[in-house]
Amino acid sequence: MKSLKDSFFRVIDYLRISVTDRCNLRCIYCMPPDGVRSFDHDDILSYEEIVRIVRIAAGLGVRKVRLTGGEPLTRKNIASLIEGIKKIPGIEDLSMTTNGMLLEQHAAALADAGLNRVNISIDSFRPDRFRELTRGGDLAAVLRGLGAARKAGLSPIKINMVPIREINDDEIPDFARMTMDTDCHVRFIECMPSGPNGFWAPGKYIATDEMRAIISRIAPLSPVRVRRNGPSKYYRLEGARGVVGFISALTHHFCSDCNRLRLTADGKLRPCLFSETEIDLRSTLRRGAGDSEIERLLRLAIEIKPKEHHLDAEGAGNGVDRLSGKETCLKPEKRPMSRIGG
Ligand code: SAM
Ligand code: SF4
Repeated sequence: MKSLKDSFFRVIDYLRISVTDRCNLRCIYCMPPDGVRSFDHDDILSYEEIVRIVRIAAGLGVRKVRLTGGEPLTRKNIASLIEGIKKIPGIEDLSMTTNGMLLEQHAAALADAGLNRVNISIDSFRPDRFRELTRGGDLAAVLRGLGAARKAGLSPIKINMVPIREINDDEIPDFARMTMDTDCHVRFIECMPSGPNGFWAPGKYIATDEMRAIISRIAPLSPVRVRRNGPSKYYRLEGARGVVGFISALTHHFCSDCNRLRLTADGKLRPCLFSETEIDLRSTLRRGAGDSEIERLLRLAIEIKPKEHHLDAEGAGNGVDRLSGKETCLKPEKRPMSRIGG
């Protein structure tokens, strides 16, 4: 089976696709209260364009695809995109990251269309706090969505939690305890400086080491090897059915395990979340380019994937654009996470 390595010998087999930059929530660390200006309908890739890109990427060795956003379930008829991707030879794993608000009504259709798994983002189990953090989210609806996903067989379910100091960090143990008697994965994500201007500060995020120390007070925590899982590290609490994971962009860079490319809703290929380097696939597609030209750009994105990002615990993120050789830095106001696809 074909596999493609980048210049640092990492196998690139994962494409993360943002299908929309729109969202039905406004999480405080991700979006400003009024949201961000959305792409026009014609700016975003059609499902046919996305399926074509995935088919060509699968020919290069991409095996895993994740749909994200914005909120992917706000895009119409997303099940038809899932069906289209699932038919592509070589695609072994198709998943989605969602805030879960619309999951209850869609879970069965998503599973029928071929979706394998979901990641659901939940930052609090307290309804009032959840509403405040998401600026309007309904925890009960999300938990019903989680139940529907489980019933539809979209497993293992992964819960993404972003702890923020003095806002929801007191719930870290509750989230970790969820893994004791269910097989879910609970992943704790260091809050990154990619949200609305003025929200992030070095004191606000909880570092992975601190989270691990808090969780290991519940029971001993041992490392678990979860195969080809990219830049997250997993552990199991003694006696637990599920696992806890840490995604730690700030304090531990796991770039050497990075296996992915990103495709934004407006058709830009991004070799790294934290670099501003983008390759414009949409214009090339819409100029009528053949598959070999799209394949050349996918190979280019893999070739110029940086060795690592340079974001540090102070949120500084200078790096070098390997296309132009110029210094770049992460400017969240230019492309917030909801526009790249987290
Ligand atoms: N709307 C969907 C959701 O919330 O699951 C998918 C898109 S969202 C951008 C994907 C993930 O990025 C979520 O788990 C969210 O918590 C995470 N995220 C967004 N902004 C973040 C930030 N500043 N730091 C860390 N994680 C962030
Ligand atoms: Fe929307 Fe997801 Fe961002 Fe929350 S984290 S505002 S749900 S895109």
